[in-house]
Amino acid sequence: MSECIFCKIVKGEIPTTILYEDDKVVAFKDINPMAPSHLLVIPRKHIKSIADATDGDVQEILPAIFKAINHLATELGLSEEGFRIVNNCGKQGGQTVDHLHFHLLGGRQMMWPPG
Ligand code: AMP
Ligand code: ZN
Repeated sequence: MSECIFCKIVKGEIPTTILYEDDKVVAFKDINPMAPSHLLVIPRKHIKSIADATDGDVQEILPAIFKAINHLATELGLSEEGFRIVNNCGKQGGQTVDHLHFHLLGGRQMMWPPG
């Protein structure tokens, strides 16, 4: 998956602002922020979407992603006022980058439905 843009970010081949990383997860600022705080939290492993996650991914990687989100929300001061986690999956889900990622958005009032 050498052409995957998020794999390139994981490998340090594309410059970005990394706010968190561990052995399974990397989090960085979205290049086109939709909120005062807008991060993307991704697995180091290339997984196309949540629909492509294996049982092993669900058991090992998703908990690491949500642990990172919880840590980041606290660190960025979002936990008290609240925040939004978004995962777009596939064409109708609005996914544009085919490497599993969770958006962490905060710092403003979110609306519902999301459109
Ligand atoms: P999605 O539409 O859910 O697939 O989200 C993909 C997100 O990746 C969008 O919010 C883009 O702004 C973001 N994005 C694309 N390329 C980069 C990049 N090089 N660095 C940071 N964020 C990016
Ligand atoms: Zn990838």
